[in-house]
Amino acid sequence: MKNLTNQNMQHVLTDAVDYLRFPVFDQFGVVAIDAIKGRYDSNYVGDGQDASFRILCAELGLDFNNLVRIEQQVHSDICVRVDSVDAKPSECDALVTNVPGLILVTREADCIPILIYDPINKAIANVHSGWRGTVKHIVVRTIDMMKREYGSSPDDLICALLPSIGMDHFVVHDDVRLPFLREFMEPKIQDLGNGEYLIDAVESVKEDLRNAGVCANNIYDSNTCAACEADQIHSCRGNAGAKRNAALICIKD
Ligand SMILES: [Zn+2]
Repeated sequence: MKNLTNQNMQHVLTDAVDYLRFPVFDQFGVVAIDAIKGRYDSNYVGDGQDASFRILCAELGLDFNNLVRIEQQVHSDICVRVDSVDAKPSECDALVTNVPGLILVTREADCIPILIYDPINKAIANVHSGWRGTVKHIVVRTIDMMKREYGSSPDDLICALLPSIGMDHFVVHDDVRLPFLREFMEPKIQDLGNGEYLIDAVESVKEDLRNAGVCANNIYDSNTCAACEADQIHSCRGNAGAKRNAALICIKD
């Protein structure tokens, strides 16, 4: 089985769960990981998700009771500020907090998970950016909320882009291509003929991050296609099914 470790990301294999971690956050005491299918076929939605999350939290030294999970991700541009574990966010696609100990969670299989930390104001965000959320600029909406709620300055922010559908596997038609052409200055699109195109959605998220004022060298890209690694990462286009990976970020208390 391929080890997915690269310069921005470390592949951790344990006796009960496999996950990807982003060492850039270590110096701040922030846990930022992508819990993947791994060797145990771990699944983080639907029935049985609590068992998976308990195993994961135990491994990470986090309190299961501090998980903040979105009840229904809806491919929106809605971001919610969370101040306590009782928040129970329902229909949204991004969470922000500055409360240590709270574990912000989003679930993905091909959509782009984005984890953000503001080391000055000690605030975090977790963004679920599928193609619909990407063309709605949810990551910009989230940074706007961090500016408003916590006084964040975009050039301080550290961002990790977790594994998602790569350009090589993201075959789309005009219903997806046209919004990207409309919403981005430099969408990376390849014409396959017969009305089919490949789009690099991660590149468009990076364009948004840079336009929002995030420094290019503070963007840590996993450079990993979920569909290429579908034996280890849940991917709707790679292995179908309703299973999901879980992206987590938490300021350790
Ligand atoms: Zn691929």
